[in-house]
This record gives sequence, C-alpha cells and structure tokens, in this order.
Amino acid sequence: MLESKNPREALSHVRVVLIHTTHPGNIGAAARAMWTMGLSQLVLVSPSRFPAPEAEAMASGADVVLEHAQVVATLPEALAGCVWAAGFSARPREFAGRVLSARETAEEAARLLAAEASPDIALVFGTEMSGLSNAELAQCTVAAAIPANPQYSSLNLAAAVQVAAYELRAALLGAGAVWQAPRFVGAAHEEIERLYAHAEKTLIACGFLNPERPKRLLPRLRRLFARAGLEQEEVNILRGILAEMDVLLKEAQERNGSESE
Ligand code: SAH
Repeated sequence: MLESKNPREALSHVRVVLIHTTHPGNIGAAARAMWTMGLSQLVLVSPSRFPAPEAEAMASGADVVLEHAQVVATLPEALAGCVWAAGFSARPREFAGRVLSARETAEEAARLLAAEASPDIALVFGTEMSGLSNAELAQCTVAAAIPANPQYSSLNLAAAVQVAAYELRAALLGAGAVWQAPRFVGAAHEEIERLYAHAEKTLIACGFLNPERPKRLLPRLRRLFARAGLEQEEVNILRGILAEMDVLLKEAQERNGSESE
C-alpha cells in the first residue's frame, strides 16, 4: 500500500476507457463496478448504443457515473492528457511493451497517482467480441492481464473492470476498512465469580457436586467458561437456568417434606 495524500483524490484521476462496447448493459455494469471502488471517470469510445435503458438498469445506484460519462469517437481522444494507460487483454497480442498482471498494473498506477501532482491515467478495455486490437493496445503504456483459467480466461467486460478497479483501490488503500459485526459486552470479573458461586450452590443442591469429594469439577468449569470468554448476556442466561433449577429443587424438597409428614 502506498501512502497517497488522499486516495479519493487519487482515484478521481483514473479514467476507465471502454472501446466499442456492444451491449449497453455492460456499460452500466462497468459503471457500477467502478463506483463501488470509488472510480468515476468513464470514457466511452464509439459505443454501439449509449445512453440506453439497459445501461441505466445495470448501473443500479451508480447512475452518477453514467451521467458524467464522456462519449468520444477515437481512442486518442479518450487518452488525451493521460500520462500512462494500461490496456487490458485476456489473450496474448502483439505488444512491444511490458505485460503486467492486474495487481502489478494497479501497483504501478498507484505509484503514479501517489506523486505530488497526480497525473491522469487510464485503464483501457476492449470490445466484447474481439477485445483490444493490436493497434489499440499499441497506444497503451503497458498491457495488463488478469491471471485466469487458461482454458477460459475471458472475463465479462464489467467483471474485468471490477477486478482492475478493486486491485487499484487495494493498491492505494491497502486492506481497507470493513464493516464490524456488533460487539457484545464481556462479563465482568465479579459477575463471573457470582456465576461460579451460584453454580456451586445449585450443583450441590441437585446432587451433582458432592462437597465432601468435589474432585476437579469447579476448576474444570472455570476452565471451560474462561475459554468461552463469557459475555454479560451469557452469564445472565446461565444464571437464569440455575435460578430455574433452584425453583424446581425447592419445589421437589417441599413435596418430599410434605410426603414425609
Ligand atoms: N473475447 C475477447 C475478450 C473480450 S472481454 C478476447 O478474447 O480478447 C472484454 C474485455 O474485458 C477485454 O477486451 C479486456 O479488456 C477485458 N478482459 C476480459 N478478461 C480479461 C483478462 N483475463 N485479463 C485482462 N483483461 C480482460
């Protein structure tokens, strides 16, 4: 991970360029993939159909990316002002430059973006049927491949955008923040001690623990509960069970008492 000044600012310098996209649904899905990772600059090179309802439907909540999408006629127009471009290709192509994995590509991009004045850079994706042409790839600084099943390495366009965008975000932000499961309050020492005292009393009353020959029962129970890391609520449940047992034992005792009268 690189210490960039401001990852959000850095991501705003990344253009995602889609060349000759045939299915508008893929444009929408790519927009969604981008926005989930904080990318917003989408440039479409002569798409078959755009704007289109299928694109909007697939973008779901990411329509802001579609609204600001730029449509241009050629790749040079899409790359104008960019200092670096990665051409994503599943299949080997004629290419004079370096071929990097998606991760290495993201690391190189993150290094550029971390520079003082972040330059604009581009991630370039080909058309669904045939991918990037050699001529298109030749305009990119590096070729990027997502290592995939050699027998079937061609990802859906939007899926490829997702992987590239995720890797870039991870390269800039590291593991990133994840949501937290709700944390419960741990039981305090004195609550746990009261539980053991209660358990001892009830286990004696029901005959499970013989105070004359206690053996290792209580230490074993302590070990068990220490391992569990009891929460307040759990102590309350166990105390509740013991209290219920106490009631039953008392009733049984009273019954026995009245029978023997
Ligand atoms: N049938 C085309 C692939 C088109 S998929 C071909 O064989 O080349 C649409 C685009 O997604 C590709 O042009 C490429 O930019 C990207 N893509 C899909 N799978 C990829 C992979 N494994 N590595 C890099 N880019 C990939």
